[in-house]
Amino acid sequence: MIVVKNPPREAWQGLLQRPAFDAVSLQEKVAAILNDIKTNGDEAVLKYTALYDGVQLDNFIVTKEEIAAAHQQISNELKAAIVLAANNIKTFHAKQLTAKKEVIETMPGIACWRKPVAIEKVGLYVPGGSAPLFSTVLMLAIPAQLAGCKEIVLCTPPAKNGTIHPAILFAAALTGVTTIIKAGGVQAIGAMAYGTESVSKVYKILGPGNQYVTCAKQLVQQEGIAIDMPAGPSEVCVLADESANAAFVAADLLSQAEHGVDSQVLLVTTSARLIEETTKEIGKQLENLPRQEIAVRALENSKMILLDNMEDMIAMVNEYAAEHLILACNNADAVAERIVNAGSVFIGNFSPESVGDYASGTNHTLPTHGFAKAYSGVSVDSFVKKITYQKLTQNGLNAIASSVITMAEAEGLRAHAEAVKIRVKG
Ligand code: NAD
Repeated sequence: MIVVKNPPREAWQGLLQRPAFDAVSLQEKVAAILNDIKTNGDEAVLKYTALYDGVQLDNFIVTKEEIAAAHQQISNELKAAIVLAANNIKTFHAKQLTAKKEVIETMPGIACWRKPVAIEKVGLYVPGGSAPLFSTVLMLAIPAQLAGCKEIVLCTPPAKNGTIHPAILFAAALTGVTTIIKAGGVQAIGAMAYGTESVSKVYKILGPGNQYVTCAKQLVQQEGIAIDMPAGPSEVCVLADESANAAFVAADLLSQAEHGVDSQVLLVTTSARLIEETTKEIGKQLENLPRQEIAVRALENSKMILLDNMEDMIAMVNEYAAEHLILACNNADAVAERIVNAGSVFIGNFSPESVGDYASGTNHTLPTHGFAKAYSGVSVDSFVKKITYQKLTQNGLNAIASSVITMAEAEGLRAHAEAVKIRVKG
């Protein structure tokens, strides 16, 4: 990792930049694939699956038999772990369901209310390029199910032998997914956005993915498909002082670095000793990691930054707006209160990010790339829209009429004014 000591404020923005990629040629490539899917449907989905996932499929809809077989293919221990995680995620997310209907009388005779209504058809993307993220199935499908979505389509890339990891199928069956499709990347996003002969068109697409997936989501959004957020390559920032444990910090940094070569990890600290010890620990812990190669490449994009004091650390992490922020410092609760930009915050030495990734209950689909300044992670809210209603009595309309007529006429919208006048009695 690159070590930077006491950078001046003017240098912060440059220092906190995410790894860059060539956005223009990426967009061109993604737009061309999307166009092909729009025009050629299933046939194009199968073509790109062969090209990018290395498998020639005849049919990409997962069958009931494949789902039933998956139950036999994973250990009871893994099933129990998935069920425990699912229960915690359900418990946490169920509380996000807002009251069905609260009628507010803004003036006598004028009743207004708002009702959350599930988005009928949603598409979930579960990454599978370099790791089968069955945990992401839980993070997306549980809030969709709680919200009451009728059709829940899930896309994930197949392995080279044409199968989907059985734990993904088990998690999907557990959480009410209605259709599972063996397709990843841009072709999956295109199939769900436009619909094909065998994939239903959905109204909203949610879920993380690599740069191709994220770019495809952003492009279909321009064509009217809602998306959750640009959730791209994973990142973690650890804010640590003298009290932090270097072995824990190293383990947390590596837990994100192993996600993908485009992941980024950041240590912001007031302790030169911690930088030294964490660097040694990373070297030691890396030796035992099967995804060592990926982690090493991600660490090349990553930094350890030494600052003077806690105030600067808080300012810097708020500027970075990390997807995951770990607070390994004294008075971590008080520091947490001062965080204004982050996807999800992990407080104290015993809250590693991994528990939030899997099983504590919070959602792991979170805004990356600084989008945490304005976006939230996935929740039940992501799967509902809120419809407003109003009902006026004749007296209610009489009472508000002159204000509406005055405003409409002042805006030059005569027909608006007439629609009220025609109803108002003498
Ligand atoms: P993925 O499923 O996102 O991508 C795999 C697909 O990418 C393939 O099916 C293929 O179609 C496409 N692809 C690969 N190379 C291509 C190329 N050269 N041209 C066109 N398409 C190509 O899986 P992944 O690659 O393992 O990435 C998962 C990502 O999700 C990681 O970056 C990880 O950090 C991120 N992630 C983010 C969050 C979050 O909440 N932000 C959570 C989990 C994972």
